[in-house]
Amino acid sequence: MEILSVSVCRIRLGSRVVSSPKIGIYRRHSSVSKKSSLDLATKLKIESKWGSLINQAVNFDETSKSEKCYICPMFPYPSGNLHMGHVRVYTISDAIARFQRQNGKNVLHPIGFDSFGLPAENAAIENQVQPEEWTNKNIAKMRKQLRQLGCSFDWSREVITSDPQYYKFTQYIFLLMYKHGLVYRKKAWVNWDPVDKTVLADEQVDSNGRSWRSGAKVERKQLEQWFIRSTNFAQSLRNGLDNEELAEWRDIVKLQKHWIGECDGAEFIFPICLNGKKHSSLNIWVQKPEHISKAAFVAVSDPSEIGIPGSVDSNVTVINPFTKSVLPVIVIPHNDLNYPEGCSIKLGIPSQCDDDARIATMKKIPFDSTRALDNFDERIRVCQLAVSGKMGGHLKSSRLRDWLVSRQRRWGTPIPVVHCDACGTVPVAFKDLPVVLPKDQSSAPSAKCPKCGEPGRQETDTMDTFVDSAWYFLRYIDPTNQDLPFDKNKVENMMPVDVYIGGKEHATLHLYYARFLSHFLHSIGWIPDPEPFKRLLVQGMVMGKTYYIKKTKQVVRSSSVIERDGQLVERESGEPVFVKWEKMSKSKHNGVEPSDMFDKFGVDTTRLLILGEVAPTSDRLWKEEAFDGILNFQEKVWTLLDDFMDSKVKFHNQSVDESKIKAVEDKLRDARNFHVKGVTFNYNQSYQLSVAISKLQSLVKSLKKFDQETMAQSLEFEKALAALLIMLAPMAPHFASELWFRFQMAPRSLQSPMTIQWKNNIFKQSWPQMDDDYLLDVIFKVNNAVKGDAKIQYKDFKKLNDEVALKMALSDPKVVDFLGGRDILAADCAIINGYSATLNIKVDHTLHKQKGAVRKNTASSRR
Ligand SMILES: [Zn+2]
Repeated sequence: MEILSVSVCRIRLGSRVVSSPKIGIYRRHSSVSKKSSLDLATKLKIESKWGSLINQAVNFDETSKSEKCYICPMFPYPSGNLHMGHVRVYTISDAIARFQRQNGKNVLHPIGFDSFGLPAENAAIENQVQPEEWTNKNIAKMRKQLRQLGCSFDWSREVITSDPQYYKFTQYIFLLMYKHGLVYRKKAWVNWDPVDKTVLADEQVDSNGRSWRSGAKVERKQLEQWFIRSTNFAQSLRNGLDNEELAEWRDIVKLQKHWIGECDGAEFIFPICLNGKKHSSLNIWVQKPEHISKAAFVAVSDPSEIGIPGSVDSNVTVINPFTKSVLPVIVIPHNDLNYPEGCSIKLGIPSQCDDDARIATMKKIPFDSTRALDNFDERIRVCQLAVSGKMGGHLKSSRLRDWLVSRQRRWGTPIPVVHCDACGTVPVAFKDLPVVLPKDQSSAPSAKCPKCGEPGRQETDTMDTFVDSAWYFLRYIDPTNQDLPFDKNKVENMMPVDVYIGGKEHATLHLYYARFLSHFLHSIGWIPDPEPFKRLLVQGMVMGKTYYIKKTKQVVRSSSVIERDGQLVERESGEPVFVKWEKMSKSKHNGVEPSDMFDKFGVDTTRLLILGEVAPTSDRLWKEEAFDGILNFQEKVWTLLDDFMDSKVKFHNQSVDESKIKAVEDKLRDARNFHVKGVTFNYNQSYQLSVAISKLQSLVKSLKKFDQETMAQSLEFEKALAALLIMLAPMAPHFASELWFRFQMAPRSLQSPMTIQWKNNIFKQSWPQMDDDYLLDVIFKVNNAVKGDAKIQYKDFKKLNDEVALKMALSDPKVVDFLGGRDILAADCAIINGYSATLNIKVDHTLHKQKGAVRKNTASSRR
């Protein structure tokens, strides 16, 4: 241990700290630097000193009685290098997880790797290694980087989707869906990516008809494909978005609602016959199923839609599953018939639709022209009949498609099905899972038919990786279960996820599939709640400056751009260059490497930089000019601690000037309460961590105003300083640990009833609380307009409810005056615990003019 230069410190240190057996860590460590500027060398020393404490196992305790809190950041694809987007999401989740732990919650904060997928396969081909090898190497690298970043993950629950111990249960869930009639195989036109040589789902093709990944122009190709009937849950998925628990989803709700569409019809399964013999089946969307029995024909705009080779002629017919009547199939170009949106097949019901009648007449198809009235009850009855008869009947929009899960790629979860000449496609038995990836990909692997035992062929398609990532948050809860994907009781206690954190780019795909799977698992009683994620924190992108040559639009590196005569030009050619903010990416040369940031500024500075200035949900423009604020802040906290230590040394033995201290205590108390209230709100409710940082900056500014005598002799100063450090810790854990260490080292002369546990490190300190008598605001609104307010002590605030708040409002003359004796229809108090409350009193608007006005019917449309 280094000897501290100030003798009084050493004496104190000897008697108080070092003698305690519980704080072994301090035996090995001394303060990194006393009275020095916070330079890079100091920061790096701090990081290496505290790294092991920061990364100490913080495993979720299944036996704990404390309230659970499940903070789940989206797991990364193991590309091999952390990028700034990762730094952002994991710093946010770590800060929230640390905050919740310090608030006494039993926190599950897991991590894993979404490790199947094309890039591994492509990289493996390029580098001539097995995808496993490439993937595992990258995972090892990323684990190291995540530890360096200081994220407090529960590593004991790590899941890796390409691990047979994981994909065994992805296959299990696939078979569960198979068992429940949700899996089918049919020949389908698929989006073929000629570059990646794979099939893409509709949503993986952009509006210009290009692959989301390779950017290649997508071709159409017809292949046998595996589908999941995800649209069976369309209505449930759409209604789920109105769940009030999902309030934080905001614009994601809009995106998903648009994606799912209005569930204003249903899809039915119609058998297809070739030469009068049953051949296959066809899904047809029908807007008004109550008229389905009056169908006269099936129109298709593209004959290949029905999956029978050759032309559609009189040999091909469709059977109405309700009436068993035989319907002709006719080809009508898309422009000649009002096909439902997104469909190229239409059930012709001439009596109900003039356009269908015109076609039937033209094609000389006989029909009964008596028009029947629409009948909603009958519609529901027909749908229910279809559902129970496994003929479709699930409400959905006409454009929503089932989930195409087949991928003709090697590096994915094998689809657990065997093709047998005698039995057809047969699912593998649960007990025979996992179906492992073939070592050699040159030939289709043989497999015994699970039904008849004869030799068959293993399916070679693998699953879309979105299947892997649709349930990983459930596996975290029970990662070592050998028999089942997870234990239902364990999941019952842990789900839903309290905060799910990740990028907005996953709003439609990943979140849709994850919600679908949860709705399915809920429907069979496996999970308690259909919605998997209670609160969603969608983080914005990290954007960098891309430099383009004006003439050619070619991207150039920032290092080759210079300023000449007030204009940006490329150094070599002198060509004018323009700048655009875009999502950081390798190809745009506009990114910064996290490891470079760590080397240049230190880990905690990088964490504060990524959290500072803008809200987590906003896109972040990465500019070094903006760093001064954070660097100054850290420097100021550092020197504040210097001043505090100095003051303690100078004044701790002097007698206290009571009157002087008393004069400043109120200000200090108020500053502490005010900032504790605000920062806690930002961590807990709004997730505006950037605002939390500015509040901490403001607290530092307040504390710096006091002279050394106050610092040394005011208990309130000590409390405020402790609160500052504790509230900084979740965002800057290494830095705050060292600050706390110095704080502990200061000679202590004040006999405090403080809640600080002097012998423990900063993460063992409980979150600072407001004083019981601190006053909080209650706002009174009448019909949503502010009409008054009152102050209420924090201890009473905890007991606030609708009734109490209304009583308070009714003792405010301004409110009473405004109410003017009108009847109160409702009084709802929205309470943000430990922050503020707003009571809204509803009275009849129109009462003055028109007595007995009818209250608007606000009955929910959800059912
Ligand atoms: Zn067989």
